[in-house]
Amino acid sequence: MRDPSRRRVLVTGGAGFLGSHLCEKLLAAGKEVLCVDNFYTGTKDNLKSAMGEPLFELMRHDVTFPLYVEVDEIYNLACPASPVHYQFDPVQTTKTSVHGAINMLGLAKRVKAKIFQASTSEVYGDPTVHPQKENYWGHVNPVGSRSCYDEGKRCAETLFFDYRRQHNLPIKVARIFNTYGPRMHPNDGRVVSNFIVQALQGKPITVYGKGRQTRSFCYVSDLIDGIVRLMKSDDDFTGPVNLGNPHECTVQELAELIIELCGSPSRIVFEPLPSDDPARRCPDITLAKAMLGWQPKVPLREGLERTIEYFDGLLSGSRKTRPARSRENIPLPPP
Ligand code: NAD
Ligand code: UDP
Ligand code: UDP
Repeated sequence: MRDPSRRRVLVTGGAGFLGSHLCEKLLAAGKEVLCVDNFYTGTKDNLKSAMGEPLFELMRHDVTFPLYVEVDEIYNLACPASPVHYQFDPVQTTKTSVHGAINMLGLAKRVKAKIFQASTSEVYGDPTVHPQKENYWGHVNPVGSRSCYDEGKRCAETLFFDYRRQHNLPIKVARIFNTYGPRMHPNDGRVVSNFIVQALQGKPITVYGKGRQTRSFCYVSDLIDGIVRLMKSDDDFTGPVNLGNPHECTVQELAELIIELCGSPSRIVFEPLPSDDPARRCPDITLAKAMLGWQPKVPLREGLERTIEYFDGLLSGSRKTRPARSRENIPLPPP
């Protein structure tokens, strides 16, 4: 018989970048963790440390199909997050956000579980308000190449709030801003992983557009701390709440910093800006500070140093990992 006082936690997308760090954090807190993933972008390599834990269980499953398990809490993270990956099969991306949310909410309703949704700053689209507060409704193209992700996540938020209103479900919705750190996929096309891999390999750094667009980068340990605090917060605090680092920088500045930290001979090359690429993005985290007592602690330079160390190990082969199989044919951006 299992110990009834031990919380059983389901993490969907647990083999991914954020999910694997979350699984480790929950295991360290003595929770029983069931990780569900279809390995679309995640890998078992990310779970090497978790798989050694007796309270950890891994299940291959696609959240667009119903799932019948018995759990006390659900963290719903399943969804490809990098533009290259989510645009590879956009219909599947929308299905994962929408059908995945319906199934996980149906599960939460049946077992009376508290449920967290990994939403995103992309719900604000290309924002016309700066920095973005939670009460801003966004500026999203519903028919563009990013829409599968943006609108899928917006619809998932709607479903979460309707399950709350209709079924009184305890929900927690976080709008996550750009997060980086060890276990980002080296080929996933996101800016931090691209620039670090390019700099370590001495290849040109591919800045899209003029490099004047901004992002605000949060180190992974800070973000995971915010997610766990949100889950522990009072039931009447549902969010949506922004989780991200309000330190804003241009993509050009990021490229220069990474070149410096890697001591790389790489030079910057400019490539076309992808469509609907947001011009500015920065979270207003007043709500998270007030309600969760949370703010990021790791400065960009320090977080990048740790991430560079990880990629250095990966590229030099001292850390054995494979690219996600289904994504092997997605190359790094052209040099
Ligand atoms: P990731 O791609 O590394 O992880 C996503 C995980 O979900 C992978 O393990 C993947 O295999 C799995 N998955 C995808 N579709 C699935 C399906 N249908 N069924 C089961 N599993 C599925 O991405 P990440 O950066 O770890 O992002 C995790 C979550 O956080 C996502 O929901 C993403 O939208 C959200 N988010 C991330 C960021 C960020 O900067 N990393 C920013 C905003 C929001
Ligand atoms: N569902 C699930 N696991 C459960 C309970 C429900 O995957 O333990 C799925 C089920 O397939 C359903 C969805 O969640 O389609 C929504 O469930 P809900 O009970 O809210 O709606 P209904 O079944 O009435 O459509
Ligand atoms: N970007 C870039 N070069 C790259 C990858 C991304 O200049 O090799 C830019 C991209 O156009 C965007 C920003 O970096 O303006 C962040 O891109 P990412 O894909 O990491 O995340 P997004 O915030 O766009 O979802």
